[in-house]
Amino acid sequence: MPELPEVEITVRRLNTALSGASVDSAVAPGMNVMKTFEPPLEELVGREITGVRRVGKMPAVEFGDLALLIHLMSAGRLRLFDRRASAKDRASRILVRLEDGRELRLREFGTKQRAWARLLPTDAVAEDEAVTRLGPEAWPAPPPAKFAELIDQPRHLHPLLRHQGDIAGIGRSWVDEILWEARLSPFKQGSELDEEEVERLHAALHVLGDAIEYYEEVIGPDLPDKIPMPLKVHKREGEPCPRCGTTIEAVFFSEHQTNYCPQEQTGGRVLKDRRLSRLLK
Ligand SMILES: [Zn+2]
Repeated sequence: MPELPEVEITVRRLNTALSGASVDSAVAPGMNVMKTFEPPLEELVGREITGVRRVGKMPAVEFGDLALLIHLMSAGRLRLFDRRASAKDRASRILVRLEDGRELRLREFGTKQRAWARLLPTDAVAEDEAVTRLGPEAWPAPPPAKFAELIDQPRHLHPLLRHQGDIAGIGRSWVDEILWEARLSPFKQGSELDEEEVERLHAALHVLGDAIEYYEEVIGPDLPDKIPMPLKVHKREGEPCPRCGTTIEAVFFSEHQTNYCPQEQTGGRVLKDRRLSRLLK
């Protein structure tokens, strides 16, 4: 699932590649993808792409005073292709065909159709409910006092950091990396942190910036479908912790997992694997 660093590199590459390109046609083969009907997508025909930017984990493609705000959900990908998609490509959700023959394609993998988009006046994007309900961006990190305030909640850090309404841009992969960097348990509550721990957690947000720098180095002008994420602990259960060598452990939930270093994050304790304990009941 694309999170802040992956969406950031996507919009940077698309912004470079697309600025100034003219729209030949715009269609939405994905039946339920467009959440707005007025103005219709055809309004984009003849317009120039003026920029591609990121709001939280959402890309926004701007066509002068209209903008397409896209929520990729878990399986959506936004990519530029040299030629048009085959009509048989069932992953196609939105196709923005350019006069030079290229095509900006929102695709979605898997069986669920969850990705969505809204075509809005560009100056209305900031007021869209999907945007107004976002907390401050996780990168660049919010000011320390603001961060300390938003983290001071009686909720586990793992869901708290992933809750876009509190802080925007972090998902299931980067939350593990941030907590490992900060040497904090995913099951510690935000309000339990002392001042020094809050500072460590705030400082750990730099892993998002580091990931963007890494992508700048390794990703060329063409974006791959699968961005090579430089993850050190997420989904690395059974491997040695890159810092202390202790075996990385995992806790599995129905749709996601969290990985951590027991030595450095949970005081040496291996947390109960909820999937396993459920089976044993
Ligand atoms: Zn470790």
